[in-house]
Amino acid sequence: MVDTKQHEERNDLGVKPGPRRQCAGCAKRDFADALLRVVLDPEDGTLAVDLADSRFGRGAHVHASKECMQKALRGGFAKVFKSKVEGTAESLAEQVVVAADRRIEGLITGARRGKLAIAGADVVREAYREGKAALIVVASDAAAAAKLPEVQDAIGQGKAIGWSNKQRLGAIFGRDETAVCAVLHEGVAEAIGRARAHAAPFATAEVRSEAWSSSEDR
Ligand SMILES: [Zn+2]
Repeated sequence: MVDTKQHEERNDLGVKPGPRRQCAGCAKRDFADALLRVVLDPEDGTLAVDLADSRFGRGAHVHASKECMQKALRGGFAKVFKSKVEGTAESLAEQVVVAADRRIEGLITGARRGKLAIAGADVVREAYREGKAALIVVASDAAAAAKLPEVQDAIGQGKAIGWSNKQRLGAIFGRDETAVCAVLHEGVAEAIGRARAHAAPFATAEVRSEAWSSSEDR
């Protein structure tokens, strides 16, 4: 059903063609990276979203949309797990947003430890001009940083995202506050983009209405 053209478009999100999986909701096959992985806790039948693909056990896949989640909860998940499942599309969506937020935090933290992320407007601007910045992350409450020409250019290129706030971004870099940072590693940048793309359909209207961060939401 899904044609090749759509898959090529997906690559714009930083999604590389890989193994395909079936969505437990709409039953269409899609690249695993474009789907959410959901695992079942066999003890209580609850579902957990696994954005990092790291949890053991049998996983089901579903598109990051309420419609597919609702369909999957009505039967698709039970079929995959061969057992009764508990949960609502709302609780799954909330999990996706929280998990994506934590994953982005973890990815930036890991990049900083590996000296693959730098913070501060001056160094970020320089890195971007030199083509070293794979992704710019702007704190969502950093309006001035969002207006920097390099950041505006990065937004236009789909190479910038808004995330969290100056305090949380600062904590990653051992500072009180950080308005902007750059991730220098392509793979880490792609993983951050994926986490964000998974959560985007469920982000609040408030988050999505931020003009400067809307360009990379598709
Ligand atoms: Zn689907």
